[in-house]
Amino acid sequence: MDFTTLTISQIHELLKSRQATAVEITQAHLAHIEQKDKDVRSYLSLCPERALEQAKRVDAAVAAGEALAPLAGIPVAVKDVIMTRGHHTTCGSHILENFVAPYDATAVQRLERAGAVILGKTNCDEFAMGSSTENSSFFPTHNPRDLTRVPGGSSGGSAAAVAANLATVALGSDTGGSIRQPSAFCDIVGMMGTYGRVSRYGLVAFASSLDHIGPFGRSVRDVALVLQTIAGNDPLDSTCAALPVDDYVGALTGDIRGTRVGVPTEYLNGLNPEIRGNIQKGIDLFGKLGCEIVPISLPHTEYAIGCYYIICTAEASANLARYDGVRYGFRSPQHDDLRDMYRKSRNLGFGAEVKRRIMLGTYVLSSGYYDAYYLKAQKVRTLITRDFVEAFDEVDVIVTPTSPIPPFKLGEKMDDPLQMYLADIYTVTASLAGIPGISVPCGKTPSEPSLPVGMQILAKHFDEANLLRVADAYEKAGGFKIS
Ligand code: GLN
Repeated sequence: MDFTTLTISQIHELLKSRQATAVEITQAHLAHIEQKDKDVRSYLSLCPERALEQAKRVDAAVAAGEALAPLAGIPVAVKDVIMTRGHHTTCGSHILENFVAPYDATAVQRLERAGAVILGKTNCDEFAMGSSTENSSFFPTHNPRDLTRVPGGSSGGSAAAVAANLATVALGSDTGGSIRQPSAFCDIVGMMGTYGRVSRYGLVAFASSLDHIGPFGRSVRDVALVLQTIAGNDPLDSTCAALPVDDYVGALTGDIRGTRVGVPTEYLNGLNPEIRGNIQKGIDLFGKLGCEIVPISLPHTEYAIGCYYIICTAEASANLARYDGVRYGFRSPQHDDLRDMYRKSRNLGFGAEVKRRIMLGTYVLSSGYYDAYYLKAQKVRTLITRDFVEAFDEVDVIVTPTSPIPPFKLGEKMDDPLQMYLADIYTVTASLAGIPGISVPCGKTPSEPSLPVGMQILAKHFDEANLLRVADAYEKAGGFKIS
């Protein structure tokens, strides 16, 4: 049996009925990585000892007749911006190339306590800045659905690992779309909970008011199971919400009759017709499932890219000030004095996109420009949030494309950062508003080359259970394979 293609529940059944051991499942994944990741390049580093030790613990629990948690023995990949104690955590950056994390992120700790098996750390855009994983300081990851194309980003390694069966599920981070967009590009499911639903403790900060940790999987149920495990209050993250966590798996009833599905009219205008066609079919499917389709408006969306790129760069410029060659990671070996050491360490350690963002962020926060850019962007952020709050008076969920374009060729957009930024249009609004969002497969583009299309579903703050119910009903009705 090929253990690498199974879902969480299938692996769980095999372990429980003793038809397979966690060690066998882990080894099957490590062997598959050895063979297939030469082409995909989703992992930056592996931790086979840690994985096999954990798998042995799970097998011992089975042998002792202990009840197994749903995630026990499940192989997981973790984006390399999330701390794993004793292992490299590079953030895809030369500046942290030799950095070993001194502690585990809360999400990692919760997964391991639930018996999950961490296989390794995945590639990403440097400090999660990008949409293609080409900004990694090490190498680009390839899209397993078409190796000549990007897997999306910034969590492209995690998405590619799950899509290529190199892990059952994965953790990524999403600041402006970095879980949802690579899910769409790699034809899998990825979710960002409400801001504060999952602890950020141990997530290396990019833009703290926008950063999230969230799951990738090949089914909505797998994503729900991971979210269930990692969500919930954490005293180590003061922005983490103290609200109780709903029963996400219990919410997957398949019944969404009467759900009001909002479709923002301005989102579909001017959209690539191939993507638009698939999204329309997805919306029609909701109609067939007994939902009410309601046209809505999110009028401030046109300001979202500007607003997001001001706020995220401002926060990044402050967060990345800590990489000074003294406290973390790389230090330039040759320098004249302290100031020169700072300058050279940062200049050699950071890549072009990170430097661009530090400069933009420093500019928008500088005296004289703060009011015109940063303060204005904060006000626009409030207006964007208000658009959603008003829309959710009339609808239960909102459906949009995840990305305006299908996965593009490696190298195609590297010289045009603005084009890359503009493609974040459908994901950054939810990030700014702090609401939860999921991306689910929505068929393939009709003409050749046939490429994955992702549909994004958004819900109100802390309404993850309903969001997952809707996504799961869509999956059960065949939505992933719409054509
Ligand atoms: N593509 C967006 C950016 O480059 C989102 C990144 C993210 O969510 N980490 O900022």
